[in-house]
Amino acid sequence: MEDNPYIKRWRKGLKRIALVYPNKYASGIANIGLQYIYAYLNSLECICERFYIDVHEGIRSLESKTNLKDFDIALFSLQFEEDYFNAIRILKKSNFKGLKIAGGPCAMINPKPISKFFDAFVIGEVENTRILEIIANARSIEDLECEGIWLKRGRVKRVYPKKLDFYLNRQIIADSVFGRCLILEVGRGCIRRCRFCVARQIYSPPRWRDIRLLKDIAEDYRGIVNKVCLVAPSTLDHPRIKDLLFELVDMGFMVSPSSTRADRLDEEIVEILVEGGLKSITIAPEAGSDKIRDILKKDLSEEDVINAVKVCIDKGIKSFKFYFMIGLPNESLDDVKGIVELVKRVREMKAEISVSVNPFVPKPHTPLQWCPYTCVYDVREGFRVLKEKKKYLIKELSKICNFNIGSIEKFAIQTILSRGDVDVSRIFDFKPSLRIAEKLGLTKYLNGFDIESELPWDFIEHNYKKERLIEEFIQVCEFQN
Ligand code: SF4
Repeated sequence: MEDNPYIKRWRKGLKRIALVYPNKYASGIANIGLQYIYAYLNSLECICERFYIDVHEGIRSLESKTNLKDFDIALFSLQFEEDYFNAIRILKKSNFKGLKIAGGPCAMINPKPISKFFDAFVIGEVENTRILEIIANARSIEDLECEGIWLKRGRVKRVYPKKLDFYLNRQIIADSVFGRCLILEVGRGCIRRCRFCVARQIYSPPRWRDIRLLKDIAEDYRGIVNKVCLVAPSTLDHPRIKDLLFELVDMGFMVSPSSTRADRLDEEIVEILVEGGLKSITIAPEAGSDKIRDILKKDLSEEDVINAVKVCIDKGIKSFKFYFMIGLPNESLDDVKGIVELVKRVREMKAEISVSVNPFVPKPHTPLQWCPYTCVYDVREGFRVLKEKKKYLIKELSKICNFNIGSIEKFAIQTILSRGDVDVSRIFDFKPSLRIAEKLGLTKYLNGFDIESELPWDFIEHNYKKERLIEEFIQVCEFQN
C-alpha cells in the first residue's frame, strides 16, 4: 500500500508514541507536516506508529496492529472540527490511559471545546523547535511544560520555525488524496489579507521554501513517481513559482498545485501547468459579487476570474471547479444571484464547470470572528434568509452545472465547535444536531460576539494585534450597500 522508509521495530525499553489522524488514511498521508513528525520521532529513542479511522478502525496501528491502549503517548492531529467526534470515539473505544496530546490547525485556532479530552495541546508548528523531543521524553503532564504547549491554563504563544529549511530526506509515497505522487510543500502562511481566512492568521508570517531545495528533493524522486503536488495556502504566490514549475516539468514530472488563485493564472503559468499534465483548474471566487469580495478583501474581481477561464480555455483546459460561500457579511440575494450569473458566463465560454457552495463559518482570529453565523444578527432570521439563498441556488444551478451545497445545520455545528468554550464538550455525548445544541444551551455561539468581550480563544497569542482585527471588523460593519 505504501513505500515507508521509516518503519522501526519495537524493542524493550522504547517508548511508544501513537500518531493519530482521526480521519481517512488518504488525507492523513498527504499531510507532509505529519510525515515529518512521524519520521523525526522515529529518529529519537522511541517508536512512533500511525492510526487512521479506516485502518483497523483507528484502534490499532497501521505498522504493527498494536492496540492504542498499549502506547505511552497519543499525539492527535486535529485538522477539521468534524474530526473531534472520531478522536473522542477512538480514545473511548481503545480505553487509552497514557498522555493525550493534540495539535494541528484546530488546536491552534481554539482547543477549548475539546480540551476536556486531552492533557495538553501543541500550539504551533513543531519543526525546528524542542517540542518533539519534549514530548518523546515526557512521563507526566508536568514534563510537557514548554513554550508552544498549552496545559489548559493561562496564556500560550504560538511557536513556529522562522525558516522552512528543514525537509524530509525520504517521503512515504502512497495513494493519497493527491494521487500517488511526491508532495512538495512550497510555503506556509499567505501574503494576502482575506478577512475570512484563518490559515493566513495561524501560519503567519508567510515563509517560502528555496526552490533549489525543492528541485533537489524532486531530483531524488525521478523515476520513482511521475507526479509532483505543490502545497501551500496559496501555492502560485511563491515568488519563484514559474522557475519551479519550469524545472519540474523539464525534469519530466506532471505537476499539480494544491491551490490556484485566478489572478495568478497568466498565459505562461497555464502553459506550463498544461505541459505538466493539468486538465482541470480549481478557482475560489468565494462570493457572487465584487462588492462582497471587496468586503472580504479577497482582492479578486469577476473579470479576473473570467480572464483566468479565458486563458485556461485558450491553452486547452476545459474543466473548472468553483468554490463559493454564502451567508457572508452584507450579502443580499442579489449578491447570491451573482454566483449564478458568473457560472452562466463561464458556461457560455464552452467550459465544463462544477460548483461547490458552503455556508460561511466566521472563524476565530480573523476580523470576522465577531460576526454571527449567517452574518444576520437575529440568528433565527439569518437561518431563514440562508435557507432562501440555498433554495434559490439549488433551483438555478442544479439545471446548469454539477452542483453541491453544504448543509446549513452542519456548518452551524462547525461554527459552535470552532467558536465555543469548554461547555461545548457536552455535545460529544450525542449525535450532533442543532436541536441538541439548543437543548445544551450552545447555540449562543452562533450569535455575534461583543467586541469588548473576552473570546474563548483570546488566550492564544498569534502574530496579530486584536485592535487591528477590531478596526477591520468595524470597517466591515460600516460598509454601506
Ligand atoms: S489567498 Fe487563500 S490562503 Fe491567502 S489569505 Fe486568501 S484565502 Fe487565505
